[in-house]
Amino acid sequence: MQLQGIGKEKWHSVEENQVLRELIASRHGLPLSEVEERRNFYGENKLPEVKKVTLFQTILHQFINPLIFILLAAALASILIGEITDSIFIFFVIIINSGLGAYQEYNAEKSAEGLKSLLKIKARVKRAGEDVEIGAEEIVPGDIVYLESGMKVPADIRLLEVFNLSVDESFLTGESIANLKNHALIDHDVDLRERSNMAYAGSTVVSGRGMGVVVGTGVMTQVGQISKDVKESTSAKPPLVLRMERFTKQVSIFIVILSVLLGVLLRMGGMDFAGIFFFVVAMAVSAIPEGLPVALTIALSVASNRMSKRNVIVRKLTAVESLGSCTVIASDKTGTLTVNQQTVRKIVLPFKKTFFVSGEGYNGVGEVVEEALLLPVSLHSIDPCLARLNRISVLANEGSLNPKNDQWEHFGDAMDVALLGMSYKIGVDPNDIRREFPIVQEIPYESERKYSAAFWKENGVLHIGLKGAVETVLGFCSRMNDGEFSKPLEKEHVLLQLEELAQLGHRVLAFAGSPLSDFIRKENYQDEDLPDLEFYGLISFIDPLRPEAKDAVIKCKEAGIKVVMITGDHPSTAASIAAELGIHEEVKRVVTGNLLEDAGPYDSPAYKDLVENASVFARVSPKQKLEIVDVLIRDGEFVAVTGDGVNDAPALKRANIGVAMGSGTDVAKEVGSMIVVDDNFSSIVAGVEEGRYAYDNVRKVIYLLISTGTAEIVMFLISIIAGLPLPLLAVQLLWLNLVTNGIQDVALAFEGGEPGAMQKPPRKPKEKIFNATMINQTVLSGLTTGIIVFTFWYWLNGLGSMIELHARNLVLLLMVFMQNLHAFNCRSEVTSVFKIPISRNYLLVIGIIAAQAIHIISMQIPLMQRVLRIEPISFNEWLQILLLAVPILIVMELYKFLKNRKAKQ
Ligand code: ADP
Ligand code: MG
Repeated sequence: MQLQGIGKEKWHSVEENQVLRELIASRHGLPLSEVEERRNFYGENKLPEVKKVTLFQTILHQFINPLIFILLAAALASILIGEITDSIFIFFVIIINSGLGAYQEYNAEKSAEGLKSLLKIKARVKRAGEDVEIGAEEIVPGDIVYLESGMKVPADIRLLEVFNLSVDESFLTGESIANLKNHALIDHDVDLRERSNMAYAGSTVVSGRGMGVVVGTGVMTQVGQISKDVKESTSAKPPLVLRMERFTKQVSIFIVILSVLLGVLLRMGGMDFAGIFFFVVAMAVSAIPEGLPVALTIALSVASNRMSKRNVIVRKLTAVESLGSCTVIASDKTGTLTVNQQTVRKIVLPFKKTFFVSGEGYNGVGEVVEEALLLPVSLHSIDPCLARLNRISVLANEGSLNPKNDQWEHFGDAMDVALLGMSYKIGVDPNDIRREFPIVQEIPYESERKYSAAFWKENGVLHIGLKGAVETVLGFCSRMNDGEFSKPLEKEHVLLQLEELAQLGHRVLAFAGSPLSDFIRKENYQDEDLPDLEFYGLISFIDPLRPEAKDAVIKCKEAGIKVVMITGDHPSTAASIAAELGIHEEVKRVVTGNLLEDAGPYDSPAYKDLVENASVFARVSPKQKLEIVDVLIRDGEFVAVTGDGVNDAPALKRANIGVAMGSGTDVAKEVGSMIVVDDNFSSIVAGVEEGRYAYDNVRKVIYLLISTGTAEIVMFLISIIAGLPLPLLAVQLLWLNLVTNGIQDVALAFEGGEPGAMQKPPRKPKEKIFNATMINQTVLSGLTTGIIVFTFWYWLNGLGSMIELHARNLVLLLMVFMQNLHAFNCRSEVTSVFKIPISRNYLLVIGIIAAQAIHIISMQIPLMQRVLRIEPISFNEWLQILLLAVPILIVMELYKFLKNRKAKQ
């Protein structure tokens, strides 16, 4: 159905009811049938995506590669000099090479797309009178949408209700300061940035709440209009891959120069030009590790796939690489180390009366028992003071909890839901309270504010009720009240009660309130607007530890990673939980936000000292969180930081690895380099583990590609210097490259993790891939292969009677054997080949066997015999050559053994 005004510019100057009329909408939301119809008509609420790379494009991309050009030139040259079989073979090599390359690149691309689809944005809307959560792309014009701090605005919205709503619209207006919103009518011709009753798709809610009606979706939004051509930027290549592309280029140049030099040597030896040309081409093609960048991209995406199975979604492939160097994990407490299944456990009234609350989880099953009487309160008339506490906890509350069939349905903040559960346990349906005392105004919870409040009418008198962090709430109170008596606040007394509860690991909220004589309804409420309040009591919550968290902390210790807790909660609560988890073992001190504040600027020695010598930070503000991260990073630590709120964004950005929580806000997810789907600390540790495996695999791939190239160069170099004929023909060299590197490099990228990876200290972030180990093992294996093959060739030549054709046939087979055996060496830099289970990489084992089989079968096929100048050999010869290849295993085993022994000493 076509609505008249959709997509029009001027909604801000239309009166609210008129807006709803024109959109044929209401504050109760659209009926579901209408939603259906509008979605069919207007389509999904999303911008046109960047065109996906097709397989064809990927294949084409393979041909923009100097190596392929060289090969093409060689193929043409072969035709010119009449070597038709050679040219056909070279074309075959080109096809196989680019085919494999395209397939791999396409796969890497695909898995990146798959991960992206896990990052869908959610939206809360009202439809047919009910609040529901839907995917942002399902929104249609006329939908009623709720906005909340941290959300991405899902469509263009005319605001109908706002509370302290401020929105960052910098991407639209270029202005970096968030705009405070209201719902007043605005002049027709004002600029986009001054339309304070509108929220535009793509901007982010910095604070507050809002509700409005959708006036434009998809391409009809303001972003849709301006960004028809500004498409989402394609993901940049991770630095490791860029580094390797550069490296490959350098190596290529080196190899080309070397090949040409060898060509000059050959010329001096009297070889003809055509022969030299083909040799140089074949040498360059097989020694250049052209597969490196793609194989590395695959290693990283294999890792990110494995991570996603362990609930970690990597937004930037960089994170995979850097996770392995993580030295500090700075974690939130609530929800990450604990399950965030809050349950009310104790209620403490100012003058000693206390209640115990039984039950677990998000439901109303349990009892509230007065501790002195041992009697459930639901059985007698409710203490008026308890009733008042309960009223506040239900009214200053954005959650919902309702029995539905045999289950309980809940929505909203964990603390809020827990308090509704308490009301049921007292014997009062919270919905009755909400009906009896209609709310006039709310101040929603915001982690910066640390409290929430509600205003309501009670017997014709207006009341305010407040719940929040104890220190914050007490700041508004000068008196305390136990129902009958009101007397001056005894702060020390309350803090003592708080301390007792916090030491049990309980999270504590304070409650306060007051009748009001005058009241101004405001859209933007400040702390200063609150009247003087009376303190009413404390409620404490338990939040069980995540069962896996303790083991994960131990794992971190073994892996040389320090775990730091940064929380907005009370220091004693934090200390108790940290102790239980073993985070608090070495350093017992809890550093509070106040301590940090007193220490002066965050680059002062005193501040640094506090940060370096603590592992628990409590009552910390988002700004201090950022400062702590900064101090740690400047100390040379490599820091992973978790975050969920809008205010965490700066810390997430500053961190080496920003870890956004799956349940967190859109803003946090957008700046984080990875997302932990289940919020779980142990998933972060799993991510670190996979990151270490990935880095190891990257090294394995590089090792294989560089060392096989080295072996080929060594063999040719010595042969040419020794004045022998070339040990392999050009076509044979190209073939060798196919059957020994064609899939082995990629197969190595799939190698499963080595068990020891989490028992060693983190890798230094600056550590080069080409460290001593890499250079040693490359040179050693290259020399071993090169020298053995050369010696064999030398010996064959000395036999005199043996014709070159037969000798080269044997040399090629030996080379194939050695390089394929060497791929097994590359599976680990420390563990013996014979101790690595085959099951850790079936792909590699099957790949190598297949490559061997292809070569051996080719030796029997007339066509291949003609192309490759090969021939069948006797079983005895075969066995002898196999034996000749075995030293590559023995030498590298010996190297590992000696290196391990040295490491132990
Ligand atoms: P954490 O670091 O544990 O996630 P938060 O920033 O979530 O801490 O909470 C900080 C403090 O704010 C809590 O200790 C509590 O006192 C208060 N608080 C948390 N949730 C609510 C809520 N829904 N209503 C009122 N106060 C809350
Ligand atoms: Mg929190």
